[in-house]
Amino acid sequence: MPFAALFLIGDPAEHSLSPEMQGRALAWAEIRGAYVPFRVEARDLRARIEALERLGFRGGNVTIPHKERALRFLDGATEEARAIGAVNVIARRRAGFVGDNTDGRGLADALRERAGIGFRGRRVLLLGAGGAARAVLYAVIAGGAREAVVLNRTPARAHALVRAATAWGGATRLAHGALAEAAALARDANRSKSGAGGSPFDLVVNATSVGLRGERALLVPPGLLSRPRVVVDLVYAVRETRLVSAARAGGAVVIDGLDVLVGQGRRSFETWFGIAPPWGVMAREARAAPRR
Ligand code: NAP
Repeated sequence: MPFAALFLIGDPAEHSLSPEMQGRALAWAEIRGAYVPFRVEARDLRARIEALERLGFRGGNVTIPHKERALRFLDGATEEARAIGAVNVIARRRAGFVGDNTDGRGLADALRERAGIGFRGRRVLLLGAGGAARAVLYAVIAGGAREAVVLNRTPARAHALVRAATAWGGATRLAHGALAEAAALARDANRSKSGAGGSPFDLVVNATSVGLRGERALLVPPGLLSRPRVVVDLVYAVRETRLVSAARAGGAVVIDGLDVLVGQGRRSFETWFGIAPPWGVMAREARAAPRR
């Protein structure tokens, strides 16, 4: 196999743990290659993608803030990436550079690996309505969840996301509202369980950016974090987020931002090379890499 050059484009890009993680995956697969991060400003995005394609790169990852705009500068995209409206991975195909989105599939894998469950038949509380929440909701619906409630600080965005998601098919019952409505959900749960408390959801997923800068807001009342089976926090911060600490204290299985990073990275690797490395190979490397 010819030398496989892979890129990461973002702004910033230097903090990413993906070079270590993907480097380990290349070594595991015995593929000669390199994974190189590039900091790219928005005004250079199109030219940089075209240059990477001309230079023979096999593909790469796209991260914040370019996931949505990159879609415009590619030769094609998968149905999933078009529905989500964002790409996190690009692969060279016959048509040229084609985008895909593995954030949701990566989360579904993390759920299976770390908690031994899938979305099928589950009740999911999804916090946030940005790009990451869109990818999560796509996976929740594709995975056959029974119900998904989307709450967001700006309720109009939660409404718009749910409206878009109804076009994706699937039988998941969808509802939306303001983040502030979480308090009422917690109160209702308390009453319906005769004061016993406990979350009415099987899974709570934080897809907001709260916690990224060390904020200590909990986002939802503790009642919603006691006894869901799994709490997922997409944020990966140097310090454990308050949501993750509260979820651990409530007895939930916790899937943190690093698990989600591993999931999307493993699926990205599969997009480039057709094989997915064992979960532990990439997870161990990501956990051991120095946080920047
Ligand atoms: P985004 O499109 O900018 O969306 C941000 C979301 O956070 C919106 O729902 C926003 O609500 C909400 N938000 C921001 N500040 C808030 C606050 N103070 N209180 C309540 N809600 C707040 O970002 P994104 O691309 O979806 O990414 C979201 C997070 O997921 C980021 O931390 C990102 O790093 C993480 N992520 C991690 C992985 C991984 O591999 N671990 C993958 C993808 C994303 P409004 O709509 O009201 O502004």
